[in-house]
Amino acid sequence: MLVLVTWLQVAAPIDTSRAVASVCPLRETGAMSCISSARSIVLAPAAWATDMSTRVNDAGEQFRRHFGRIPGRGYLFGGAAMDSAGWNDARRAGHDAWRLPWPVEQVASRSSGTADQRRAFALSGMAHELSHLWFGAAFWPEPATPGMVRYGSGAPDWLDEVSAALLEDSLTTRSPAPRLRTGTIPFQRFLSMDHPALAQSAFLAQARARAAELRTQGASATAMQLTPPPGLGDTLALFYGQVRGLATWLATRAKGSAVFGELAQAMHAGATLDEWLRRRGAAVGWPPSVMELEADFVAWVRTAN
Ligand SMILES: [Zn+2]
Repeated sequence: MLVLVTWLQVAAPIDTSRAVASVCPLRETGAMSCISSARSIVLAPAAWATDMSTRVNDAGEQFRRHFGRIPGRGYLFGGAAMDSAGWNDARRAGHDAWRLPWPVEQVASRSSGTADQRRAFALSGMAHELSHLWFGAAFWPEPATPGMVRYGSGAPDWLDEVSAALLEDSLTTRSPAPRLRTGTIPFQRFLSMDHPALAQSAFLAQARARAAELRTQGASATAMQLTPPPGLGDTLALFYGQVRGLATWLATRAKGSAVFGELAQAMHAGATLDEWLRRRGAAVGWPPSVMELEADFVAWVRTAN
């Protein structure tokens, strides 16, 4: 039998120090630096690459703690334009457990606050998206059901978003509770609702279709007055607020490690949240039913700082 050992295996480093950047398998171009670590290959603007690489490692550790799975090694592209050469290099190198384009400078510039806050926002958002990728691959790897539109993986949208929120900064720096005091989404609805952004994507698809129609009628440029679905911004903010609140609440009470992984596995196998809480809630530090979870969560929202 012929065993092929690629040069990449020889070169694969295990930490993110500057020394290993020199053996990065991707081409460094212009202002882009490549940093190779045990979890990722990061090709990003030089001012960001080290922080991004460190953050991927930290996010992987958080993911392992909450879900009991270790994400594979993947490729993170931090530039503005899609880098297809890097994509292909990463795939050839076998670093394609996941691949995320994250235009970090643009994300930072679109956010608000001080330079440090913008930086933290861009890195936190990156960890959020990584968690979506890792969660889907680990627990809901099946391709989407034809005809069924989902926001993230095949998991219920609340669980998908909670899993992503677990890796965000806001969990440790800012309580989402005060912002929920004006009202929460009743759990019966929250646990079964579609991600509100789906309404937005349907709206955008309509807008695009209308623009295409106008072009076929000879319009080379059009000004369209578009009104988003009423209340979408508010619904999105409330949904994300409740997701962050619930992620914080559950994470701070979870006893033992990988509790979210156990829940995800059970729900993937067909259990409802209520069934699982009845079976395992008390043992993992959570209430023994959805009804009690909601009551405790709402009480926390009222009083938490
Ligand atoms: Zn998300």
